[in-house]
Amino acid sequence: MNNLYNYSLSKLEDHMLSIGQKKYRATQLFKWIYEKRVDDFDLMSDISLKFREDLKNNYCLIKPKIYTKQISSDGTIKLLLELEDGNKIETVLMRYNYGNVACVSSEVGCNMGCAFCASGLLKKKRELTVSELIGQILVLDDLLKLEDESKRVTHVVVMGTGEPFDNYDNVLDFIRILNHPHGLAIGARHITVSTCGIVPRIYDYAKEGLQINLAISLHAPNDALRNRIMAINHTYPLDELMKAVKYYEKEANRRVTFEYILLKDINDTPECAKELVKLIKGTLAYVNLIPFNPVKELKFARSSETNVHRFLDILMKNGVTATIRKEFGTDIDAACGQLRAKNEKHEL
Ligand code: SF4
Repeated sequence: MNNLYNYSLSKLEDHMLSIGQKKYRATQLFKWIYEKRVDDFDLMSDISLKFREDLKNNYCLIKPKIYTKQISSDGTIKLLLELEDGNKIETVLMRYNYGNVACVSSEVGCNMGCAFCASGLLKKKRELTVSELIGQILVLDDLLKLEDESKRVTHVVVMGTGEPFDNYDNVLDFIRILNHPHGLAIGARHITVSTCGIVPRIYDYAKEGLQINLAISLHAPNDALRNRIMAINHTYPLDELMKAVKYYEKEANRRVTFEYILLKDINDTPECAKELVKLIKGTLAYVNLIPFNPVKELKFARSSETNVHRFLDILMKNGVTATIRKEFGTDIDAACGQLRAKNEKHEL
């Protein structure tokens, strides 16, 4: 069975033509699926009975299933979703005052090997399909609808397990569905993709003509330190990464966000803060400082409040716009990948 959630609108138009249907069928289906959220072909009343029969015989609309659900006292929802092949992925919903933010996974596991990351403890098994990407949002929307009919995911960050640019084509089609007026109609500025620094894909992304936000997981201000904590830096060192960032800023006319996880006595020193100022000078950068969530299996510790604020002060005094990321779900498995790692272990 062919899952219709796998198609962006333009791909569905091509597909309709390839099966001898008119192109407009694609928009018709998109409106039923995403605007009206109908997943039963029998209810698609403006589609001929014959085509509805064809749809029932050859196509499906399957979303991931909720395997476990954790709800934090701050309202954060953390889901472990089960995919059709039994693999499991994490999806998180965070409540900001400006909206409901979904953090989605892009792969089952991750091979990028960032030393501080719980997601990377489980190696990549495969990339997620478009239906598995969009399905994460649809499942969260179903839960929000139970709270209030009008509630929806309003912002999406592709920052969960996996490297989005390692699954580039599917992530881009996912974004197209999110952003399309007949899709989920989420504004481009409300969508952020985060990469650990796959340089050739940053150039590709710059040329897509999308107004989607780009975040770079930087986490270190020099190559020696970044090599230690982020394996990708051996392939794409900082000078190449920064060249790509500057190209992106010029080509896409957008600024990037640098994500920086503060690890105690590793990258949270005043020297590191000063080096970071130098490194990103000449970019329009914005720095998002992230207090580390300790994970039992990893040897890193959380920076003290004093160190976090000292780091922030140095950036601000040197003209770098920076904030400390708000923390969510600290009473549940807060670190990205923790819930899945825990469950996989139980299953072994
Ligand atoms: S931080 Fe992101 S890219 Fe790095 S190992 Fe974790 S999931 Fe993969």
